[in-house]
Amino acid sequence: MPILGAHMSIAGGAHQALLRGKSICCDAIQMFTRNANRWAAKPLADEDIERFRTTREELGYEHVVAHASYLINLGSPDDDLWQRSQNALMEELERCRLLGIDRYILHPGAHVGTGEEAGLQRIADGLTAVLAVTEGSGVRILLENTAGQGTVLGSSFDQLAWLLDHATPAERLGVCLDTAHAAAAGYEFREAATYEALWQAFEGLIGRERLGALHLNDSLRDLGSHVDRHTHIGEGALGLEPFRLLMNDPCLRSVPMLLETPKGEDLAEDVVNLATLRGLIGREEPIVTLTAPVGADSEGRRA
Ligand code: ZN
Ligand code: MN
Ligand code: MN
Repeated sequence: MPILGAHMSIAGGAHQALLRGKSICCDAIQMFTRNANRWAAKPLADEDIERFRTTREELGYEHVVAHASYLINLGSPDDDLWQRSQNALMEELERCRLLGIDRYILHPGAHVGTGEEAGLQRIADGLTAVLAVTEGSGVRILLENTAGQGTVLGSSFDQLAWLLDHATPAERLGVCLDTAHAAAAGYEFREAATYEALWQAFEGLIGRERLGALHLNDSLRDLGSHVDRHTHIGEGALGLEPFRLLMNDPCLRSVPMLLETPKGEDLAEDVVNLATLRGLIGREEPIVTLTAPVGADSEGRRA
């Protein structure tokens, strides 16, 4: 069975993310380790750490992953911002270590005008520096593929592979594949043949053993749009078929698959998306919807 879950809020304390996830039957969750839109964060108190660890134990989560906060940009040409990004990363990796979270998902970064080559080098150097300082923490950084919006890097397997080749140590690095970002970046994997080709390309350039997590999101905008907008499973440009293939892929049974789709506080949308995904398990016939779903406009929105 696939390991399914969703991103959960840490409002009220880190352990609340675990409780929220369990309340809607998540096998795994993703969470921030602090407020994701600010640089400063107050340190984790011992009782917060303890509470998180006991709650996780009680609820029996095998897979919990953290997501980096949004201000971090290891590709920044600005030395001050580059350093602040590294410091924030080190701090968040330390929070992961304290909480016992072994995977941390990071958007590689944006070059902000200096070009692909310079940006990638900057990111590799930043990663290497951060990994050196946090040596022995046991937390692995998973680089997330991106939609390639603006000057954002990491939208192709080639770029991710380059980063994995140039940052060290390799064993502390992996990849998180986001389905909406892959679609927005132009990857076609909406039926069996192209789905297989996608994984062959991934295997050839990155390696399956590097895959530490999957983000399951449909893409509101079309393939190759380079617009990062998530929507509900089956309601966007991807449709249900690629998710059916993912749900029934024996090679992905040990990789947590996490939703990052829009939702309200009651998590009702997550419940629907998880039910949709679980409903695809064991379905053998293809579900072909290469055009926009019925009742949706050209951007996949429901009428
Ligand atoms: Zn992300
Ligand atoms: Mn994602
Ligand atoms: Mn996104």
